[in-house]
Amino acid sequence: MDRTGRVFLFTASIIVCVSIFSMMAESKEVGKQRVLVIGIDAATWDLLNPWIEDGQLPNIAHLAEEGAIGNLTSVLPVISPAAWTSFATGTTPAKHGVFGYQQRREGSYENYVPLSTDAKAKWFWEILGEHGKRSVIINMPGTYPPGELNGILISGEVAVDIATYPPELAEQLKSKGYSIESKGYVNTPKDEFLEDLNKVTDKRAEIGLEMMESEDWDLFFIVFTESDRIQHYLWDDMENKDKKYGGEMLKYFQRMDSIVGEFVDKAGNNTTTFVVSDHGAGRLKKRFYLDKWLEEQGYLVAESSGNPLLKKAELVFAALLRSTGISEVVRNFVIFFGGEPEKIKPPEIAVDLANSKAFSSGYYEPAIYINRNIVSENEREKLAGEIVEKLRRLKDGKTGQNVFIRASRADEIYNASSPDMPDIFLESNYNYSVVGGLRYPWLFESGLRETGTHRIKGIFIASGKGVRKGVVVEDASLIDVAPAILGVFGIADENMEGKVPGGIFEKS
Ligand SMILES: [Zn+2]
Repeated sequence: MDRTGRVFLFTASIIVCVSIFSMMAESKEVGKQRVLVIGIDAATWDLLNPWIEDGQLPNIAHLAEEGAIGNLTSVLPVISPAAWTSFATGTTPAKHGVFGYQQRREGSYENYVPLSTDAKAKWFWEILGEHGKRSVIINMPGTYPPGELNGILISGEVAVDIATYPPELAEQLKSKGYSIESKGYVNTPKDEFLEDLNKVTDKRAEIGLEMMESEDWDLFFIVFTESDRIQHYLWDDMENKDKKYGGEMLKYFQRMDSIVGEFVDKAGNNTTTFVVSDHGAGRLKKRFYLDKWLEEQGYLVAESSGNPLLKKAELVFAALLRSTGISEVVRNFVIFFGGEPEKIKPPEIAVDLANSKAFSSGYYEPAIYINRNIVSENEREKLAGEIVEKLRRLKDGKTGQNVFIRASRADEIYNASSPDMPDIFLESNYNYSVVGGLRYPWLFESGLRETGTHRIKGIFIASGKGVRKGVVVEDASLIDVAPAILGVFGIADENMEGKVPGGIFEKS
């Protein structure tokens, strides 16, 4: 190449570089308003605050300092599918119709795993799509099977396999080693559990950061569910400062903190960021077996002449539940049943549905149904009231503690109603979790391998563009976040039950 040629090439490459740079600058800095949402399943200020004060979580601390913070009260039942669906629709479970990992069909009371197609309210990204906004959503629980949207959706739990919109993305994710869930749960040796937990978290973050760069987006939303799993498993190790595993929870949240920092940096200055959890977490000491109690009180009749194979299946299921966790169990059963959405069917609790006046909705943090097929409408309210009263007074004989913080008839806590809605909702007391199913000789069980469980207060942070600094939000609810996200884009949706938390935006 001669000298003129080299000069020409040099000049040309400078021009190319400058124009690429200015294009990037335009999209990142002077471009459009964007929203980043990071979901950290089960994150609680009870842990984050002391760690922040200790300087352990610099990125989350920075967001909190520069923005608005508060508790985020979850919904009843306090369980991920109900909670995340409330988050993403701005409506309560009474309106969207998802009440947990399992619920019962109106009329037959058949037990089923609710899917995205059972959610009766609009997702906030559908509304954004109607306004021409493009969303990238990664690992959102309750979105399986993934529906069509303006953008990209990677379903989270209880997806049986990697499922995406558009569908062809799934193969790419598989080849890159993406996973929905880390291997094992409280039945897995801790070293193995932690190794996979970290691997799955890092891979999701890596792929998320890649997509943040390669995709055009107005809304970017990523959920990490591993933060929930580690709290279920290692709470006791943390609390008792176990030599080997006592520091792992902090280490995991430091990893999350770096990930939060990377996403915020990459999202750029035109972005409003929300960091939220679907509920909080705390110590678990005992399980309470709700169907057993209903049987003892004479409301529930166990199936006596049923299929012995079904009972065997339930025993296996019960054993699995005790050693693992529900989401893992549901997934195993889903795979066992063939993996097609229409075949998702949890094992029935062996309840004699024809002769039982009341029964639970399923295995984990269940609610109670009053059997409309045998209890008249007049009697129903009385019966619900009676059960609620008994549960409010119910104490653990060994500790003298109340088992429930709240037991309420559905109409006492929710204004709306949907067909498969339970009649009674419960919030178990600190240190207890509630489990359905019958095949246990006891009401309470202690000595659990699972040592952490859910609490109703999650976390809320809004920060970045347009957010007022130093605002402490009182009484924010999980259903208020979707209206806030829409609010950033100047959109309001009257079907949402939540409201933008007061005072968080500079302009309002
Ligand atoms: Zn959760």
